[in-house]
Amino acid sequence: MVENGHQAPTWFTVGHAKAINTLQRSQREGRISHAYLLVGPTQVGRMSLALDLARMLNCLEQAPPCGECSQCVRVTRGLHADVQVLAPNAEQRSNRFSIGIDAVRELQREASLRPFEGRCRVFIIDGAELLTEEAANSMLKTLEEPPSQVVLVLLASDGDALLPTITSRCQTLELRPLPTALVSKELSNRYEGSPQDIEEVARLSGGRIGWAFQAMAEPDLMERRAERLDAIETALRSGLEERFRYSGTLAARAASDRAFVRLELSLWLELWRDALFFREGLPELTTSQSRQRLLQLIADAASSAEIAHAAVAVQETIDNLERNVNPRLALDDLMLALPRPRLEV
Ligand SMILES: [Zn+2]
Repeated sequence: MVENGHQAPTWFTVGHAKAINTLQRSQREGRISHAYLLVGPTQVGRMSLALDLARMLNCLEQAPPCGECSQCVRVTRGLHADVQVLAPNAEQRSNRFSIGIDAVRELQREASLRPFEGRCRVFIIDGAELLTEEAANSMLKTLEEPPSQVVLVLLASDGDALLPTITSRCQTLELRPLPTALVSKELSNRYEGSPQDIEEVARLSGGRIGWAFQAMAEPDLMERRAERLDAIETALRSGLEERFRYSGTLAARAASDRAFVRLELSLWLELWRDALFFREGLPELTTSQSRQRLLQLIADAASSAEIAHAAVAVQETIDNLERNVNPRLALDDLMLALPRPRLEV
């Protein structure tokens, strides 16, 4: 890209100007850190920025990353031998995701080798909070005595979940949710869609641009969301028997598909949050613009305190399930705890 007669770098990351400036300044001044920690919600752009950094470190042009040279293109296509992503694996027994000691040892072995085709080896650790304790302690050794020509990029949603000994050895860049206006602008530039649909997706994304791209690219995502919200609405409007049927079905699913249950509970949480905004006279802050009628019914039937209490109950259920409490018990308890406002049509 040419700007005012000079080459300008091409960053594929949307937003996050502050983090990009920091990286560019470090590159110019030859002060690239041997380890970065990118902290922010999932799908906010952490992986995009990590790959941009990998391109910048290996780019052949004057204003890196150019996005177009052979090095940049190989990173973009996932073919660059010196750029590797370490992602969590499901443990077979518990179905929990983690990054274990074997993966870290393999990374360390590779990190000790010279770059194969580029200038710099970049290891991206996606989900650094999922390093097992043993793996994290082993990783410390690499962070303490980093091999030259190696940059580690740790991605995490919660920096506090990492060992302080790890965070203190990384340069932390915080990635905040993007403004809704920026998300909808990007969506309008890249996708066909009515302004209303784009606006709703942008709001729902909560500033997580990756989620927004996914929602536009897979219309199924929005349809499935609408289906689940219908199921939630039915359970909310029903008596205990129907509610327990709902929690039973959901609990059965927990054994094989934890992510599904986590997502369902996040929808419950979103519903109560929206209801509270509605109750407080701030409907413009709600995410589900298409559910205004239900929100109105809840707001008419429950006090702000009751709505807040319901949100807390959902959050406690999410925490309990993470702690491996029996899903059936946890979800039945939730069904009992949620208010049963009379929601006549
Ligand atoms: Zn390049």
